[in-house]
Parts: sequence; C-alpha cells; structure tokens
Amino acid sequence: MTRRPSLPPVRLPAPAWSGSTRAARVYRAALSRLGPSRWWPAETPLEVCVGAVLAQNTSWRGASLAVENLKKAGLLDRPGAITSLPPRKLEELVRPSGYFRQKARRLVIFLDWLEKACGGTVEGLAALPLEEARASLLELKGIGPETADSILCYGAGKLVFVVDAYTRRIGGRHGLFGGDLPYEEIRSWFESRLPPDLALYREYHALLVRIGAGWCGTRPACEGCPLARFRKPGLSGGNSP
Ligand code: SF4
Repeated sequence: MTRRPSLPPVRLPAPAWSGSTRAARVYRAALSRLGPSRWWPAETPLEVCVGAVLAQNTSWRGASLAVENLKKAGLLDRPGAITSLPPRKLEELVRPSGYFRQKARRLVIFLDWLEKACGGTVEGLAALPLEEARASLLELKGIGPETADSILCYGAGKLVFVVDAYTRRIGGRHGLFGGDLPYEEIRSWFESRLPPDLALYREYHALLVRIGAGWCGTRPACEGCPLARFRKPGLSGGNSP
C-alpha cells in the first residue's frame, strides 16, 4: 500500500528571512509592516482546493461566501459529497463566486479527478511527485497555473510559488522582472531566489496579495505602501538582480 504523507497545517507561522537580496528585503519590509498573513483562509486542505477553484476571476469575498455555503451544507468533508449533488443544487450553492455554472462544472471536474487519481484525498495528491501532480492538474478543464499552484502549495504542501496578477504587477513596477513575462518565468524568478521553505513561499505570496489589494491596484497608491522605498521613480518594468 502507498504510504500517504501527512499534510502540513493549512496555516503555517510566517518565517524570518535574513537574506540580503532584494527579494529578501522586500519580504522583510512587507512582513514587518503588515504582520503574518496566516494564509490560506481555510480550515482544511480540501477547503483550500475548493476555494482555489472558486476564486478564479472573482474577488476572494465571493469565493469565500460560496465556500461557506458548501461548508454549512456539510459538503466539504469528502469530494464525493459535492460530485454527487444535483448540478442545479451545486450551482445555487456556489453562485456567490460568480460564473457559477462554469465554476460548478469545474469544481466537479477537479473533485472527480481527485477521487480517481488521488483516492479522494489531498494527502493522495501530495503523494504524487510535484511535476506529475502539476501536469495532471493543468490538463483539467478550467485549471490554470495559478489555481494549480494554489492547490499544490497551500493545499498539498508542495514547494511551488504561486504567481497572480498582483505578483506580476508589483514585480513589474519594481523592476524585479518584466511584468509581461510568462507565468513560468515569474515562478522561476521566485523559486530560484527563495530558500526552499514552504512557509516562506506561502507567506511571501500572501504578503504580495495583501499589498496588491491594499495599495497596488491599476493605479498604484505608493504613498504609505510598505514597499514604497523600493520603488525607483519612473520605473515600470525591466530587470534587477
Ligand atoms: S503601490 Fe507603489 S510602492 Fe506599493 S507595491 Fe505598488 S508600485 Fe510598489
């Protein structure tokens, strides 16, 4: 019988990072100003995975309301509880996440896969080698790199850095990397600079999301932003070691 790894807690303590690189200094500035994020906002690894699918192209608030509906209905104990629901009922429950028919279908596709490929548990997903798990997730309809990596990093405890629109925008505006780089290159940028520490991967991404949501919108509000001192005047892209 294959031995299933036990999963790390959904919320890990924010680690210190004493490195002298720009990536490390940005992390320290964000953490000291904002404090630990205690991400992902979920109680179980399955809830993380479901939330990641429902959070696509919507605000986290909408996704979390949908997750709450599923929880209240007692459907987050095992994947089969959701996949055996009548489609209309599931659509109704996930409606707050927007695009609810599409989200309901995608959720069922993901959970069916989890059942068949991983024995119906996130531990089963964690037992797969990272590249195999990632490639399989990316083959599922409606699962893109950000969703796959959120599931793998925050749900299955795999060492993979999650890139989202805020990561891209903040990195581009600070000249850390070109903001128009492909997803995989931005992921590599972080993974080649961060020590291999799951808690650090999780916290760094969470801090960037919080800064993006609080200050770095389509029109940046640099004054008062925790990263203001790292911004070079007039810089909107380019590369930096
Ligand atoms: S708001 Fe300004 S200082 Fe803050 S992350 Fe965005 S570009 Fe940087």
